Amino acid sequence: MNIILFGPPGAGKGTQADNIVKRFNLHKVSTGDLLRDEIKRSTNLGLEIKSTVDKGTLVSDEIINDLMIKILSDRKFYNRLIFDGYPRNLNQAKNLDFLVKKNNQKISCVLSLNVDKESVIKRVLGRLLCTKCGLIFNKNFKPSIKESHSCDPKFLVKRSDDNEKIIIDRFETYLKKTLPLLEFYKEQNLLHQIDGKAGIDHIFEEIQRIIAGLEA
Ligand SMILES: [Zn+2]
Repeated sequence: MNIILFGPPGAGKGTQADNIVKRFNLHKVSTGDLLRDEIKRSTNLGLEIKSTVDKGTLVSDEIINDLMIKILSDRKFYNRLIFDGYPRNLNQAKNLDFLVKKNNQKISCVLSLNVDKESVIKRVLGRLLCTKCGLIFNKNFKPSIKESHSCDPKFLVKRSDDNEKIIIDRFETYLKKTLPLLEFYKEQNLLHQIDGKAGIDHIFEEIQRIIAGLEA
């Protein structure tokens, strides 16, 4: 089973991706992680990526595609991938379709977490980062409690990029860019829209229901 997960920044996509990975033993594919990993390992591709990033230009769809070729042809991950934050445009989506088929796999479903702007703002503004261990909490949704976090509360800070204007910009950019992708997957009957305003556990229950329905 291969899954694509969409959701605007602040919709709790990361948390749900982690839940799905654990519950279904999938491997998470995040282009950001893949890019950083190539750079760290100083592969030829990594050097190319680094020079692109250093110049401040966006990494091309071709480079992203090369990364996906590696992942999709790796038997370790055969049919157990969850794509988080990818594809980002129609070109990438079509490349992914091609690669998936070429490697005798398929996209099993596309999950889209839907939230309105106000909820996203509330969620993101409540976000706290622990500067000691790197964990992220949320005043409103996922508070730092003794059971889940042992660091002193003095290490918790609001993330510096979490201000309202940036959040709104990001949210709107996401909608504009993602809409054509959702249409693309809707036409293939793969799209499941999920109410992302519900609580984390409730959302995950719905995701599990959707996935159970696929395997039936
Ligand atoms: Zn901590």
